[in-house]
Amino acid sequence: MTTIGVLGLQGAFREHIRSVEATGSKAIVVKRKEQLEEIDGLIIPGGESTTIRRLIDRYEFLEPIRQFGESGKPIFGTCAGLILLASEIDGSYDVHLGVMDIKVRRNAFGRQRESFEASLDIEGVADDFNAVFIRAPYIEGVGGNTKVLARYDGHIVAAQQDQYLACSFHPELTDDHRLTEHFVKMVEETNKTLAL
Ligand code: GLN
Repeated sequence: MTTIGVLGLQGAFREHIRSVEATGSKAIVVKRKEQLEEIDGLIIPGGESTTIRRLIDRYEFLEPIRQFGESGKPIFGTCAGLILLASEIDGSYDVHLGVMDIKVRRNAFGRQRESFEASLDIEGVADDFNAVFIRAPYIEGVGGNTKVLARYDGHIVAAQQDQYLACSFHPELTDDHRLTEHFVKMVEETNKTLAL
């Protein structure tokens, strides 16, 4: 059976567990790097990217998560998780995992729009996805190998590059589990390929 891990250092990880379980898959909270061996795909949740990074360093997760991705296993970053995956962060020299060829801008929708909901057309997933944005980043640019999956107000808010999936919003906060299901399918497909 496919097991999805949710990085449980800070942020909205319990909601992701609930969302993965709603798709019929098994989910575990990952708090130690050794647990990466027990999972087939990893979700990095929303929260505060600088705090999650501090805890990633404290628990020595940075290299193990990079290797997990480089071995071909899927990683899904949501909101702060997207920032952690990015190869470039606007206005900052600090890059975290840097595994996905995207440039992001933090808190990009401005103070007056701290949080809001919008209906999105996400390619291959849904044309009416109810997305919850909370102090959300957006993607300013993507590399040639990265596919844009959704835009809001002209800005890129979801993208995929091979085994990496990222979105600006919180797909775990509603009962619409279609984007989580898309990730679970990516993990199942990879499992089949890696088992060949
Ligand atoms: N603004 C947060 C950051 O920069 C992300 C917010 C979120 O994950 N909801 O890390």
